[in-house]
Amino acid sequence: MTMRTRTPLICECGNTGCHIHSENDQPYSKSWDSYRLEGFSGGGQDRDDLATMTCEKCGQTGKVKYA
Ligand SMILES: [Zn+2]
Repeated sequence: MTMRTRTPLICECGNTGCHIHSENDQPYSKSWDSYRLEGFSGGGQDRDDLATMTCEKCGQTGKVKYA
């Protein structure tokens, strides 16, 4: 099973997107996790790393917050 956590994000310009974190929650298989952004780029592996995310619409960095 893959557990997917979506965190909605919004930029100051009104562009919305989300942070999607996927992880394997099966206990006896190799664990893994991955993340990606929709509507924004950059950021670290941490979903709290809002300051380094860049809006794909207005191009500004660090203007993103949780929607
Ligand atoms: Zn923006």
